Amino acid sequence: MKVYIDGQLYDKEQAKVSVFDHGYLYGDGVFEGIRSYARCVFKCKEHLNRLYDSAKVIMLQIPLSVDEMESAMIATLKANDLSDAYIRIVVSRGYGDLGLDPRKCKKATVVIITDAIALYPAQLYEKGLEIITVPTRRNSTEALNPQVKSLNYLNNIMGKIEAVNHGVQEAIMLNQEGYVTECTGDNVLLIKNNQLIGVPSWLGVLEGITENTVMDIARKMRLTCEKRPFTRYDIYTADEVMLTGTAAEVIPVVKVDGRPVGTGAVGPLTKRLIEEFRKSVSQDGVKY
Ligand code: PMP
Repeated sequence: MKVYIDGQLYDKEQAKVSVFDHGYLYGDGVFEGIRSYARCVFKCKEHLNRLYDSAKVIMLQIPLSVDEMESAMIATLKANDLSDAYIRIVVSRGYGDLGLDPRKCKKATVVIITDAIALYPAQLYEKGLEIITVPTRRNSTEALNPQVKSLNYLNNIMGKIEAVNHGVQEAIMLNQEGYVTECTGDNVLLIKNNQLIGVPSWLGVLEGITENTVMDIARKMRLTCEKRPFTRYDIYTADEVMLTGTAAEVIPVVKVDGRPVGTGAVGPLTKRLIEEFRKSVSQDGVKY
């Protein structure tokens, strides 16, 4: 496996970044998770735009233009001869001293890892997931806005630990007001009365590229789609619930906090959305 670091490709064993990099010392940086399907980088522009927006918010200057980043990503995919891949772009503040001051870091570090995809097991897409809500609240937008896909994922990891401690794989995180935000690595959507409802990003969630794709598909299926705040009540009384994310794609949820979702089996609209999503992925992106 070859890994891109600052303009060069290294063997996996040689792919190393300094311990003085503020990405390592402070989680100071941003990242993206992207997929390619049949030599097509799915929603490439959307992911790169989100990366550069995240960097802008934390005042991190990415030393490559968007086009250069796209070329570097494709060169890494080709070097690894991957037609279906999970792509991780990491841009950290770079080499500095032990202080917090980002001005001490003269140049951001850019890393691109391309690997085979690690998905939930296939049967979970048939059977659906059981999830819980966890006590750890999602970061407030005024502390560290979850719209920024930063290298500091400790808030999400706390939620993940609580999920794992309770024997489930994902967790719904609420905000301070008790509104549903998102899962630790996926967005959460519900269907009620043929309406698909997601969480607006201003409430403090990552603007999901998979979620937006699913909403585009749903509109074509003549479902009405809306993003609005909702609570656990709406989850418990939903007809169907699903999670969306680049790695997970669209995965059904059949139980939340011990309550069966709808009939307790994977819902018919979720099934159709999964099918249509899978059909669309190799058609919508940058080919290489
Ligand atoms: N929320 C969080 C916290 C995530 O890490 C992810 C995965 N990037 C998502 C939602 C889903 O976003 P996307 O569909 O753009 O991958």
